[in-house]
Amino acid sequence: MNWRERGSCRFEDPELFFPLGEGGLSLRQIAQARAVCHQCPVLRECRAFALRNSEYDGVWGGMTAGERRAAVRRGSQDRGR
Ligand code: SF4
Repeated sequence: MNWRERGSCRFEDPELFFPLGEGGLSLRQIAQARAVCHQCPVLRECRAFALRNSEYDGVWGGMTAGERRAAVRRGSQDRGR
């Protein structure tokens, strides 16, 4: 079975995982999405997929798009040393 078929978000409204921003009124929505992710049995697989495939929209693996961009930048910098 594919990891996507085991994600906890399959029982949630998909819009929960796509906040309009990463601050202000979106903070509560992001916290709710993260709470689902942190109970999810495939969080690691989901996060790795999103980082590997440059998914820069929405909450994946408990991380916002901005957090994933920052993580990718940090990874690139680490590899450059
Ligand atoms: S980690 Fe979050 S976005 Fe990824 S499959 Fe699980 S619930 Fe869905």
